[in-house]
Amino acid sequence: MATDSNRFQAIISHCKEYGFIFPSSEIYDGLQAVYDYGQWGAELKKNIRDQWWKSMTQMHDNIVGIDAAIFMHPTTWKASGHVDGFNDPMIDNKDSKKRYRVDHLIETHADAMRAQGKAAEADALISEMEKLDAAGDLVGLKKLIDDYNIKCPISGTANWTDVRQFNLMFSTEFGSTVSENADENKVYLRPETAQGIFVNFLNVQKTGRMKIPFGIAQVGKAFRNEIVARQFIFRMREFEQMEMQFFVRPGTQQEWYEYWKEERLKWHLSFGNPASDYRFHDHTKLAFYADAACDIEYNFPMGFKELEGIHSRTNYDLTQHEKYSKKKLQYFDNEINPETGKPYGNYVPYVIETSIGLDRMFLSVICAAYDEEDLSTDGKQDSRVVLRFPAKLAPIKLAVFPLLKKDGLPEIARDIMAKYRGEFKCFYEEKDAIGKRYRRMDAIGVPFCVTIDHQTKEDNTVTIRYRDSMQQERIAIDQIGEIVGKAIK
Ligand code: ATP
Repeated sequence: MATDSNRFQAIISHCKEYGFIFPSSEIYDGLQAVYDYGQWGAELKKNIRDQWWKSMTQMHDNIVGIDAAIFMHPTTWKASGHVDGFNDPMIDNKDSKKRYRVDHLIETHADAMRAQGKAAEADALISEMEKLDAAGDLVGLKKLIDDYNIKCPISGTANWTDVRQFNLMFSTEFGSTVSENADENKVYLRPETAQGIFVNFLNVQKTGRMKIPFGIAQVGKAFRNEIVARQFIFRMREFEQMEMQFFVRPGTQQEWYEYWKEERLKWHLSFGNPASDYRFHDHTKLAFYADAACDIEYNFPMGFKELEGIHSRTNYDLTQHEKYSKKKLQYFDNEINPETGKPYGNYVPYVIETSIGLDRMFLSVICAAYDEEDLSTDGKQDSRVVLRFPAKLAPIKLAVFPLLKKDGLPEIARDIMAKYRGEFKCFYEEKDAIGKRYRRMDAIGVPFCVTIDHQTKEDNTVTIRYRDSMQQERIAIDQIGEIVGKAIK
């Protein structure tokens, strides 16, 4: 049985062993902080993505989805502030040659202080770090590391370089012409999907005849050259974001911010985890253009960590794109302003953003689902690993087993497969004893298994076995669709 401290490790191993997640290009020893999703991981990820997409675009009249390119005109990133400001202060240890994000190094030290019962000192350290970070005071941050005698966890020394800024964007070259000026051909791999929405704001608003308030949603890859990539798929260099920008009338942003906080928490709770596993963390250190921001944190095995961000970004991004592109990105609001008796007229909308990492959501789903259940009875040791996914997220919904590989049972099983595979993901298996097959399905989180036996030939019934309770019952073949269909709705 995994203890709390090695539960995370057990989940990582399980993901690999059962085809959810593999290290990228593993035969070459992998690539740090890059992962590939295997056969069941890809299904689970798709189901999460589909749930998010549906909740945004299908369940709201006033939200539409787009799919913008990963490459964008380089000026986009000048305008958004990423070229000049998407930096993390970092520091190198001269002995281990390891590079650290300064905030991570200091936070790890503060956690160690808390573990020693020095919570007040740890809080003081964090608040000092936040102050220096907000002021961009790199010399002050270095002094803080020296004052607290923070050491490199690898070399154990405090032999540090100065603190420097490190831009997190990956760049590459565009086209085949060689230019004198290397920067001329430089394009970036987008570090967030949001800018693809901002630059298309007017295209969508005009062609979709969207009226404010309205939203634009998008799912897609983002890339960040994270200095310290760790904790499995929690922090990756290539990841997927699900973002939605909601455009509102200036002055109404606070109420929409509250609305989206509540909506997004409701979405998370719809997957059935206890409410106590989620909490809001309000940002005290706001980006200079933001007027409110918070994270929804999830109780991962390594503690409460950011799962999703909700940000009130004012009209900053659209205004910046107006400035750099010299194109108007405004909306004409013909509603009557009760205070003036005239239409609200032209303005640059304010924006509420909801931004969640698909991979981080995947991690939260698999952590919540992973269970090692002790099934020992009367001195007989037994246990199983079961992934208790909500049925609507499960990679496979129904497994179909002929009890034997003969007597016409596989043919009936194949007929059941043919009947339901168009409606939901089914899986056929005829090898090994039934008990073994059940355990394999538990380990990949299949909520329903049906077994076809000789009685099936007589009365068209099968045994259905429920993953969570392990209960079995006899049902008519015709009932399968209804039972599974109801669970995955
Ligand atoms: P963090 O503080 O963890 O670096 P962030 O505040 O920079 O995250 P945002 O820029 O707000 O994150 O991105 C929105 C969401 O994208 C995050 O809530 C997270 O779920 C996801 N995300 C961000 N960076 C990564 C990453 N390197 N790997 C996986 N997911 C990420």
